[in-house]
Formats: sequence, C-alpha cells, structure tokens
Amino acid sequence: SDEKKNGDVATTTTQKLPKGMVLGPDGKPCRACNSKAAFSSWAAMAKGKVDSPQTTTAATSTPTTSALSTDDCPPDVETLGRSSWTLLHTITASYPPRPSPALQRDTTTFLSLFAQLYPCWTCAEDFQKYIASDNGRPRVSSREEFGRWMCEAHNAVNEKLGKERFDCGRWEERWRTGWKD
Ligand code: FAD
Repeated sequence: SDEKKNGDVATTTTQKLPKGMVLGPDGKPCRACNSKAAFSSWAAMAKGKVDSPQTTTAATSTPTTSALSTDDCPPDVETLGRSSWTLLHTITASYPPRPSPALQRDTTTFLSLFAQLYPCWTCAEDFQKYIASDNGRPRVSSREEFGRWMCEAHNAVNEKLGKERFDCGRWEERWRTGWKD
C-alpha cells in the first residue's frame, strides 16, 4: 500500500534525519514510532541546531532532558506502548473466567483490529505477524488463558527490544490482584 511504501526506515534522504528514524505515511518522522529523544533530535536538526545526524536508535533510546519527560505532547513509542499494555493487560484482568462464545469471537476480532490500527506502524506489522503465527494465535477461552497469552505476546516484544522477560506465572498479581506479600 502507499502507506507501507512511504512508511520506510530513514537511512539517507535529502533531509537530514537521525539514524534509525522511522517515517510515517506522510513521509515525515512518525512520532508514535520513535522515541522522544530521536524525535527531538530530528526537530533540533530541522531547526539547524545540530549540524550532523545523531546515532540515536529510535526504538530504544530514552529522553535525556527534564523538559521532555514532563510535557503534554503526543505520545512517543514508549509512552504509547506503556499505555497500550496497561489497557491490554487490564482487559485480560477484567475478562470473565468463562466467556461466552460470542465474547471470545469479539475478543479475537478486537485483537486483530487493534493490531491493524496500532499507531506505530512498525510495531503494528510485527504484532499482526505474531497474531497470525502458530505460537501467537490469540487464546481467549478463559481469563487465565487470555491473561497468559497477553503476557507471552508482551514478552515477544520485550525479547525483540532486548528487555527482560516477565514471569507469566505472575501476570494476575501484576494486573488483577496486586502482589502477594
Ligand atoms: P512496557 O514494556 O511498556 O511494560 C509496562 C509494564 O508492564 C512493565 O513495567 C511491567 O510491570 C509490565 N510487564 C512487562 N512485561 C510484561 C509481560 N510480558 N506481561 C505482563 N506484564 C508485563 N516498541 C518498540 O520500540 N518497537 C516495537 O516494535 C514495539 N511493538 C509494540 C507492540 C505492541 C502491541 C505494544 C502494545 C507496544 C509495542 N512497543 C514497541 C512498545 C514497548 O513494548 C514498550 O511499551 C515501550 O518500550 C515502553 O517499555 P517499558 O519498559 O516502559 O515497559
């Protein structure tokens, strides 16, 4: 699609861009796909404050100035991710122990639409592939099963980003009951 064609990872362009900067459908840096640090570094370069492209890796870097962490700006890839996982895990926590067949179908549809509409398009593409894979196919026949599935899906992203895996035996403590003492 046009969106995919335009949404390419920036390497060399006529405009100077930080290394690894992900572009959106409009050909401009995609805010929801990059960290605030990468986005700010691009903004500084665009204003001529920085002479040469930075070596920031968009997906993993973190904001470095206090001004960046206290604003009310549109979300970067990390803020969007944290909020989205909070919503997704909380949905599993409030899911019935024994859902009706209709709810199971709706939940599977929701996950598929969520994966299509997720605003970070690079994240969305990988999540769609995960859901379509043998290991990643959504399991929604009970709260326990759905909660574990979501935890494993989150771990797949954690692994991709080089983060620690979460112990899925404790998903319910983290997202439903609170930690046991
Ligand atoms: P998060 O990973 O956001 O986790 C929030 C909290 O959830 C943690 O503090 C922890 O208490 C808990 N937690 C952690 N792991 C688990 C788990 N397995 N099960 C249950 N609870 C857990 N970012 C990218 O840079 N590239 C991507 O391709 C990408 N894909 C994403 C796809 C999806 C569907 C979503 C929702 C987010 C994606 N993100 C991606 C964002 C990324 O996963 C993180 O949200 C972001 O990097 C912020 O990470 P964080 O360390 O603050 O904690």
